[in-house]
Amino acid sequence: MSARLIDGRAVAAALRGELAADVAAFAERHRRPPGLATVLVGEDPGSVVYVGMKHRECEAIGIRSFDHRLAADAGEAAVVELIEALNADPLVSGVLVQLPMPAHLDGVKLTGLVDVAKDVDGLTPMSAGLLALGRPGLRPCTPSGVMMLLESAGVVLEGAEAVVVGRSNLFGKPMAQLLLGANATVTMCHSRTRDLAHLCARADVLIAAAGRARMVGADWVKPGATVIDVGVNRLEGGLVGDVDFEAVRERAGAITPVPGGVGPMTIACLLRNTVLAAQAAADAETTVG
Ligand code: NAP
Repeated sequence: MSARLIDGRAVAAALRGELAADVAAFAERHRRPPGLATVLVGEDPGSVVYVGMKHRECEAIGIRSFDHRLAADAGEAAVVELIEALNADPLVSGVLVQLPMPAHLDGVKLTGLVDVAKDVDGLTPMSAGLLALGRPGLRPCTPSGVMMLLESAGVVLEGAEAVVVGRSNLFGKPMAQLLLGANATVTMCHSRTRDLAHLCARADVLIAAAGRARMVGADWVKPGATVIDVGVNRLEGGLVGDVDFEAVRERAGAITPVPGGVGPMTIACLLRNTVLAAQAAADAETTVG
């Protein structure tokens, strides 16, 4: 039997529709739209494309975007000054510092300067700490997108065995925290994990984020499991995920394709975080005022 497809494009489109309505309501109430500022240092080609996509998607739903670019040889002081100015700017609801940074800059240190209330990437140490403690906060975009896909597919996480392959700060660790928060029993795997196939085959929910093309074969998957493929690997024939899609879809209960699965959710969740940050800041102003 072929697995049910989890359609990330459709879920992301529905989310953007809801956000457009939220943005319009916010703008009417507060006389200004939510705002997203991006900071791009240098001209890394992938980053230029990503930042452009983020601005287009913001504008499409009415979020105002502020595109800040610094030369590749900008010093740390200039980046710090810009981030601090954006932290203080009331028109800016969210600040996103695009990584990677040029080699002479410490990207982790600099992204950590973003005010936690504006950390729409959810990747600063403060946001990571709030997530680890189970406190409210802005959550990283790709893992949040996966949670929305699981919800849209009606996957029950409470008590489920979830296996996450990959332990990066960007994805694997926050993904595991979100699954734990939803009461799944979580196993995290990485490049030193012994008998990865055996661990994966126990999963009711298997999430692959190793960046290894088609690594997860059908024999790694429990019949009926939900398989979420986060991997993006560029091969000569085009983009493929970390899951051998054609083989695994015959065994899984539900599966995300690549492209068209997790990918579309990431920017949609960035827009959502921007709206959430704007609403939280406006609520705080009302309380103080
Ligand atoms: P990363 O920082 O390179 O981390 C990869 C993780 O996978 C590491 O924890 C690594 O283990 C583990 N790993 C690598 N090879 C492995 C193997 N053979 N067996 C088991 N584990 C292995 O990558 P990332 O940023 O998390 O991204 C992972 C993938 O997701 C990439 O393909 C990336 O393009 C994709 N991605 C997609 C989106 C999206 O929006 N669609 C967003 C983020 C990431 P060690 O820690 O031991 O090295």
